[in-house]
Amino acid sequence: EAAINRIAAGEVVERPASAVKELVENALDAGARRIEVDYANGGKTLIAVRDDGHGIAADALPLALARHATSKIDGSDLTNIASFGFRGEALPSLGAVGRLRIASRPAGAEGAEITVEGGRMGPVRPVATPFGTVVELRDIFFATPARLKFLKSDRAEAQAIADVVRRLAMAAPDTAFTLTDRTGGAPRVVFRAEAETGDLFDALGARLARLLGAEFRDNALPIEAEREGIRLTGFAGLPTFSRGAANAQYLFVNGRPVRDKLLHGALRAAYADVLARDRHPVAALFIELAPARVDVNVHPAKAEVRFREPGLVRGLIVSALRHALAEAGH
Ligand code: ADP
Ligand code: MG
Repeated sequence: EAAINRIAAGEVVERPASAVKELVENALDAGARRIEVDYANGGKTLIAVRDDGHGIAADALPLALARHATSKIDGSDLTNIASFGFRGEALPSLGAVGRLRIASRPAGAEGAEITVEGGRMGPVRPVATPFGTVVELRDIFFATPARLKFLKSDRAEAQAIADVVRRLAMAAPDTAFTLTDRTGGAPRVVFRAEAETGDLFDALGARLARLLGAEFRDNALPIEAEREGIRLTGFAGLPTFSRGAANAQYLFVNGRPVRDKLLHGALRAAYADVLARDRHPVAALFIELAPARVDVNVHPAKAEVRFREPGLVRGLIVSALRHALAEAGH
């Protein structure tokens, strides 16, 4: 049983950044307004995510660690998934591959904590803890040394963590985020983004300026388009503000960060006439459509999606971006 759980867990948790993704998504699902992410040694020795969300009641702590015991769907409509989590696999998986501690305190209740190490669950104990939830994962993959060997350098794993948190922070501009590296002695803040207010463009623009630099906002075109019920919003960088790598393309579908060939291809096509082949646009684009028109359930950990009408989505992006670029004289 434990071995099977560890194998299944490896599907969900590939590296420290995938653990961070699951924990931050849980915090967002819990309605957090403030999320603090700490890590040490590229997340290999410590990952900690603190939130001020609705918390987990003491008697629900063991349940949160039971496989497929999610509280987020009732099973009636798998296509209508508004929250990030819906499989109930993350916490059990993290508890299988590392030393996990969850401490939580819902409003008006006492705090409680539980630990799981390599799949072995301890008892629920009372603990003094701030309102909300803190999840700590120490020594990821200590129980699966083979997987530990596949991890990259601390620096590369830390970069992957920063990328995951940055993308989720773009998807939730009204939530405050702090990312702190706690390796060694003094903590080092990697980035901090206060909660943004105002309408979508104000809040998103401010958050992007915070995360990508003020130059991005000054060199980006606001995008707002709709075709047959599919909405596209966000910011697309001017050709003069391009990069040598395609790693500054932030794409979201129904509020969830995705990496998708179709979307990246559409972005490339939109800029084909205004950018040299070895240059890549910087962009943050949000697509919204009815959940039934997109399958986000392709793989538990991969951020792939499958659109029911790929041609329509591609056409929308290409024409909206080309139009905006042309209007700006490109
Ligand atoms: P899922 O997110 O798919 O439901 P998880 O394994 O990620 O599954 O989490 C299991 C359950 O634990 C969630 O359904 C939720 O009820 C609870 N939970 C996890 N993290 C938090 C959190 N930060 N705040 C409140 N509840 C949480
Ligand atoms: Mg989850």
